[in-house]
Amino acid sequence: MPLITPSSSETLASGRNSRYIFVTGGVSSSLGKGIVSASLAKLLQARGYRVTIQKLDPYINVDPGTLNPYEHGECYVTVDGAETDLDLGHYERFLNVCTTQANNITTGRIYQSVINKERRGEYLGKTVQIIPHITDEIKRCVQILGSESEFDFIITEIGGTVGDIESLPYVEALRQMKWESPDDTLVIHLTLIPYLAAAGELKTKPTQHSVKQLLELGVQPDILVCRTEHHLNSAIRTKIAKFCNVSLESVIESIDADTIYDVPLLMQDEHLDEVVLKKLGLEASPDDTPDLGEWKEFLYRFKNPDQTVHIGLVGKYVELKDSYKSISEALAHAGANLKTRVEIHWIHSEQISRKNVDEMLGKLDGILVAPGFGSRGIDGKLEAIEYARTNDVPFFGICLGMQCAVIEFARNKVGLTDAHSTEIKEYTPYPVIDLMAEQKSITDMGGTMRLGAYTCELKEGSIAREIYGVDSIEERHRHRYEFNEAFRNQFEEAGMKASGINPVSGLVEIVEIPSHRYFIASQFHPEYASTVLAPHPLFISFVKAAVMAGPGPVKTGNTASEDAISGAI
Ligand code: GLN
Repeated sequence: MPLITPSSSETLASGRNSRYIFVTGGVSSSLGKGIVSASLAKLLQARGYRVTIQKLDPYINVDPGTLNPYEHGECYVTVDGAETDLDLGHYERFLNVCTTQANNITTGRIYQSVINKERRGEYLGKTVQIIPHITDEIKRCVQILGSESEFDFIITEIGGTVGDIESLPYVEALRQMKWESPDDTLVIHLTLIPYLAAAGELKTKPTQHSVKQLLELGVQPDILVCRTEHHLNSAIRTKIAKFCNVSLESVIESIDADTIYDVPLLMQDEHLDEVVLKKLGLEASPDDTPDLGEWKEFLYRFKNPDQTVHIGLVGKYVELKDSYKSISEALAHAGANLKTRVEIHWIHSEQISRKNVDEMLGKLDGILVAPGFGSRGIDGKLEAIEYARTNDVPFFGICLGMQCAVIEFARNKVGLTDAHSTEIKEYTPYPVIDLMAEQKSITDMGGTMRLGAYTCELKEGSIAREIYGVDSIEERHRHRYEFNEAFRNQFEEAGMKASGINPVSGLVEIVEIPSHRYFIASQFHPEYASTVLAPHPLFISFVKAAVMAGPGPVKTGNTASEDAISGAI
């Protein structure tokens, strides 16, 4: 049961300002600010508070939508169609609460907004400067989340590392907010305590320097979360506290964890949530504990699998696993749900050829073809799909993965030789995947795709309908190209059914092959919606089908659709 102290949520909900918690990073990047922020949010949420998390990204791109996945990993998409940093995916997966455009701000967006205001004359002839105009805009973007009193806590993660030129205006904005409202604002600094093997010691100096750097910018952190490979003893904790002007209880150890889903519990062991509440004047009573029952149940199932299933994830960005973060997490959620360890085999689509496809995919229990853009690696994806389809191996295609499934089927089953997507081959004789009319005139690359959640109606009697258990769903999109309606009848006759349709535009959102053991592909991205407490049904059914099928080509003649469905649900 969520335990809310009288001085906590009730007070906050009845008019008290939201509390602002900033999370900064020092010493090194990749310390896991996103996971620590999400873990703290989880602990506060489990105490009954309403929490949201925001990411401020110091780069000049207006959003990460135009970034190559190799740069920052996957682009996460919110229900309202914002293309955002992948950390928002962690926030949603941990909290089971939707984020929006307001949860991810970049320097590009801040400047764009300030420059637009300047052009409209809103600064009344003043010289527009970083302080106060840029910093005011940053503060506005943070405070807007608190202005409706919808949230008790706004946790704002500042991307990058303290000391970077890019993040200076953000640190200045937070300094001002802390100065203006010290009782409602808290700063958590995430830092690294490296272990020097030669000396056999943990070293605090980088942390001292990092805090000094923050102090030079006028910010005294309230809490230090210390990433470390070894436990911090009390002497080290005391030293850090003394040198960095924080209380001993504010030195929080963040030891390397087996899985990111352990971190909320590790943070709870270190009393991070209690220290936060205390510092913000919301002391928790001693017997209050966050209700993490379901979370622990998930972890138990995740860590104690009864079996292992081997899934091939075919994509062209596999060198950087973060490019497919939401997919790999959604597979993990589904695996935990089924008490199954999902071992992902990362398969580079450029390396698959007609000659080696049997060898590369032969030991897999299921094949997932990933989203993507452009022509690189397409042939390998088509080979993988043909292999899955003709060998009755469970298949799941997402976005470009669905488009490739359509192309493969067109060529090999419908008889449309050289069928293609016009994204890859503009003048194909059979454009089975094509641009929507309104997309044809767009030349701007940023924010112009079909983005965010759209309704999809599921056909009676279809596998998709069976999997979801409802007749209408909302799923998130991020693409320009679509299934070409002109070919739909030919596909249906040849055995590939359109089982999910957008009720407004009539666009095909899901295709499936009922005669196959398990072959389903979606134009939308179900992976964005999978969370720890609500694993996505399409991922559960796919993993389940893979478990039932076992590795490689199916040797029995048992491919009836009823069996496929019952095995998959
Ligand atoms: N490139 C394809 C399109 O734009 C697919 C996009 C994707 O996989 N997200 O339609």
